[in-house]
Amino acid sequence: MNTITEKTKCLIIGSGPAGYTAAIYAARADLKPILYQGMQPGGQLTITTEVENYPGYPGGVLGPAMMEDFQKQAARFEADLRWGNVTEVDFSKRPFTVKADDGKIIVAETVIIATGASAMWLGIESETKFSGYGVSACATCDGFFFKGKTVAVVGGGDTAAEEATYLAHLCKKVYLIHRRDELRASKVMQAKVFNTPNIEMVWNSIPIEILGKEDTFVKSVNGVILKNSKTNVETKLDIDGIFIAIGHKPNSELFVGKIELHPNGYIKTEAGTTQTSVAGVFAAGDIQDHYYRQAVTAAGSGCMAAIEAERFLSAM
Ligand code: NAP
Repeated sequence: MNTITEKTKCLIIGSGPAGYTAAIYAARADLKPILYQGMQPGGQLTITTEVENYPGYPGGVLGPAMMEDFQKQAARFEADLRWGNVTEVDFSKRPFTVKADDGKIIVAETVIIATGASAMWLGIESETKFSGYGVSACATCDGFFFKGKTVAVVGGGDTAAEEATYLAHLCKKVYLIHRRDELRASKVMQAKVFNTPNIEMVWNSIPIEILGKEDTFVKSVNGVILKNSKTNVETKLDIDGIFIAIGHKPNSELFVGKIELHPNGYIKTEAGTTQTSVAGVFAAGDIQDHYYRQAVTAAGSGCMAAIEAERFLSAM
């Protein structure tokens, strides 16, 4: 493959709400951004179904359709949207050098990292089959669809405890399934779980199969088979939905040793900004946020990153 070197004022890596919003703002500021969209253009939202909490869509919108809208809006302002992955970055001197899997070398005056995070999954086949149809990794996004129903949350950390208490307000009953006999969650979150009457703990249990109905047009969950981690005894729990809350993994492998990361792998940014430890490199969206993790906050930080990149260039 022939190597082609291109120059840009602003390179954006990643294409969720943060990346596309950064592209819209950077393009409108005439930075002529290049955006590498990665393997899954649109990011985590492309594996959700309906999104009802993104402002501006009063009737709700399907996650993939919303990401298509973001993409079209970025394209409208002539952001250079590309399929493919960035494979290597050199932030040791400016302009920065970045290699992509289409054989291009991009020499960029600023870089916005928006590679997101990926929910961790149990890795069982039925989980993939019912993903978006009763299997979710986000209670804030999908909990509403289970109003008055019985659901399960899997995990023992703060996220699982938070998701269980959030769902308990909406649902008739919430089972919190954990593989051990004590939670990893903070004491305050544990107290919330134990003091919520419609949360029932299911200890020492691992989901081994998610059960459901599969019609031609619609799929839905109606149960889960659990294996007791101490006795190996299998039991069935009747549920309408299951939320996997066993952690998220930031997509930051590419940046290890190139930029400062938190011990949990998320990119460090200066408080209240998207500035990373390297001047001219900004990070937006879930790659620098393990707390809010919402499409709207990711989009907001994408906007911040583009404005900061533009001001950085103007001050040079
Ligand atoms: P986490 O603390 O890493 O907990 C993950 C949980 O999932 C653990 O209980 C773990 O079990 C379980 N788990 C992992 N892999 C599993 C598997 N394959 N099958 C079954 N269970 C599995 O992740 P998190 O809860 O997402 O929290 C991440 C970070 O964000 C933490 O630092 C947390 O404190 C923070 N956080 C804070 C708040 C808040 O302050 N409000 C809210 C959410 C998250 P084991 O316990 O057996 O390892």
